[in-house]
Amino acid sequence: MSEAKARPRPPIESGCPDGFRNLHPMMRKHYGNWDYHEDPQPGVLKHVAYGGDAVYTVKAATQRILDVFTLRTLCDIGDKYADGHVHFTLRSNLEFFVTEEARVQPLIGALENAGFAVGGTKNSVTSISHTQGWLHCDIPGTDASGVVKAMMDELIDEFKNWNMPNRVHITTSCCQINCGGQGDIAINVQHTKPPKINHDLVANVCERPSVVARCPVAAIRPAVVNGKPSLEVDEKKCICCGACYPPCPPMQINDAEHTKLAIWVGGNHSNARSKPTFQKLVAAGIPNNPPRWPEATAIVKNILHTYKNDAKDWERISDWIERIGWTRFFELTGLPFTKFHIDNWRGARNSLNASTHVRF
Ligand code: SF4
Ligand code: SF4
Repeated sequence: MSEAKARPRPPIESGCPDGFRNLHPMMRKHYGNWDYHEDPQPGVLKHVAYGGDAVYTVKAATQRILDVFTLRTLCDIGDKYADGHVHFTLRSNLEFFVTEEARVQPLIGALENAGFAVGGTKNSVTSISHTQGWLHCDIPGTDASGVVKAMMDELIDEFKNWNMPNRVHITTSCCQINCGGQGDIAINVQHTKPPKINHDLVANVCERPSVVARCPVAAIRPAVVNGKPSLEVDEKKCICCGACYPPCPPMQINDAEHTKLAIWVGGNHSNARSKPTFQKLVAAGIPNNPPRWPEATAIVKNILHTYKNDAKDWERISDWIERIGWTRFFELTGLPFTKFHIDNWRGARNSLNASTHVRF
């Protein structure tokens, strides 16, 4: 047996890299072993370890999709004014670390002079987390990063200050089915019509059984159209979710007129004070109106304003609504309550396609 066959090539491991290698040394040294932390000012955290070591974290907003020039600018600031270590948060904020208090203000000054807002900690509105949008994905119905830019321009004071009853996480999602957005406030795409099928292309582009199996309400059937194998949609069943479009782009569902935005509130992954909660729909059919999305932004600002005025200290949006009730939420925000707000998926087991079988 040859040497090559006796010892096969080892697999190339390409999983998640070891994050510890890149942690700030003080963070690595005291990982999981902190005594307490403080919030000296908006955008700054101070962690103190048992024994007295302290490290200051300064948080700056980024636009998530970063060009090389901006990344280099941020890295240069990190090298010159911080300790040469940075950390991207889930919401695309960039954190810098220093171990001396005297270096905090020069670091903040350098970031602000370069155009980066510092904030997003404690009871502020932190940066909006978003999905990839037109730049990276093939199925978006809107540009999530564009919505984020337009909204955060209007919410910059809420990012830089501790104005809110508690922290607010906002998310956006640029299609209705995949990455998704679950947050205190979520702005998600909403399709409003069934897909329009280009029957000339289906046979060449789509694996029909996969597309049939993909539909959550079993609304798609194989069909022969103009002598070619294709698909048909039972439009009475279709819930316009868009799940058939990724595996079969000839089932076009996005368009400028019928792709709308919907706003959901009260989602919370955390179980710190209360159970995790699913978000609920509060506004639908909002125009998907680039480049500034003024209608969606106005509704988000209205919800934030109402929350700020009515919630008790440290209530998250879901806690606040739990206390006052949904009826009062709609009264206070002035958002119209319609029949579309009622389904909370309690009937999903009966109404959704829960089978793994392919139907023909
Ligand atoms: S939310 Fe949908 S469209 Fe947006 S990046 Fe994710 S999969 Fe693509
Ligand atoms: S996958 Fe969604 S959009 Fe496509 S036919 Fe089924 S319900 Fe309609």
